[in-house]
Amino acid sequence: MAPEMIYLDHAATTPTDPRVVEAMLPYFSERFGNSSSIYRLGRSSLEALDDARESVAGLIGARRKEIIFTSGGSEADNLAIKGVAFAQREAGRGNHIITSAIEHHAVLHSVEYLEHFGFEITVLPVDETGLISLDDLRAALRSTTVLVSIMAANNEIGTIQPIAEIGAICREHDVLFHTDAVQMVGALPVDVKALNVDLLSLTAHKFYGPKGVGALYMRRGVPLLPQINGGSQERRLRAGTENVPGIVGLATALRIAVEQMDFASRHCTLLRDRLIDGIAERISYVQLNGHRSARLPNNVNLSFEFIEGESMLLLLDQQGIYASSGSACTSGSLDPSHVLMALDSSPERAHGSLRLTVGRENTVAQIDRVLELLPPIVERLRSVSPMYKQFTAQRAVAT
Ligand SMILES: *Cc1c(COP(=O)(O)O)cnc(C)c1O
Repeated sequence: MAPEMIYLDHAATTPTDPRVVEAMLPYFSERFGNSSSIYRLGRSSLEALDDARESVAGLIGARRKEIIFTSGGSEADNLAIKGVAFAQREAGRGNHIITSAIEHHAVLHSVEYLEHFGFEITVLPVDETGLISLDDLRAALRSTTVLVSIMAANNEIGTIQPIAEIGAICREHDVLFHTDAVQMVGALPVDVKALNVDLLSLTAHKFYGPKGVGALYMRRGVPLLPQINGGSQERRLRAGTENVPGIVGLATALRIAVEQMDFASRHCTLLRDRLIDGIAERISYVQLNGHRSARLPNNVNLSFEFIEGESMLLLLDQQGIYASSGSACTSGSLDPSHVLMALDSSPERAHGSLRLTVGRENTVAQIDRVLELLPPIVERLRSVSPMYKQFTAQRAVAT
């Protein structure tokens, strides 16, 4: 019999909650109408869209008109960054953008794209825990800065940035502030006003909603040029017939995530710390990547010396345990993670990394099973590691 599946890759995606699927179903069948049509069938879709928008806005402290539905987190990031950059330059405000070295590629590649169009980019470094420095940010601001984009919580190492403070600095200097909050929304309380943000990205499939649907919060009055042109949907800021089932799913998933947040964050923190402490007790030469306390409740990222994360993944997979090394988007490539490299870690340390991200449906028994299976896997890989052989030989000589 195949071993029980233990899914520990919630930062990559989450299973869609059955209640979310249930809420979406009518919008594939009897309520399939186009929300732009004026007959009743279309109006029923429009109402669902309005309700979803109202609900999502309310859950993050925004107004209905400040929510733009997109195809996910990547599109929300692209729309925020390119949309603001081009609108600001057109208004003669400047061409300088500030971001950080550990952003998701949806942000980093968007700013790199803008470089080809004459924008100037400053990429802020992070310290060994993954935090940017507020002094670095202040020093990087110019009179031509039109946008700062710093993620709320990192998808690989879980580090949480001081978003409200970053936002306050941007306000002081009259610079717009975008945050990719994809990993934070649904996991921790998010209030766009308290966070001092002008734009914020989120995506449903990271909080038990469907894939392919997300949203951008855009504070009223923020200048933004659409990046998908066509019909007048989403207040002319994002053309295309709305993904009504997906949007209903996003709103339902966010409502459930917020309702269960207290339980889920306590539960995940408990599982997270059981993993971190349990592995530290059982396995030597392991380091925690990221910040010990300014950390997402569900994130464990560890570097195991002398071995490759990819090899660990394969052996864990054979046991039905699904984890990740680095980020899912770059797995398959042999380049070390840009996030781990930005922490000043060696390529070896980056290659030896394993990310385990827990979710509300994981159990203590599952964590204990991982704690039982992981040590022999690490031992087996180290026993065939030339680096480990060299290390133990040197140690034998030294003692
Ligand atoms: C997953 C993720 C994205 C991309 O979201 P998609 O909906 O998959 O496009 C962007 N940013 C972060 C931090 C993520 O974790």
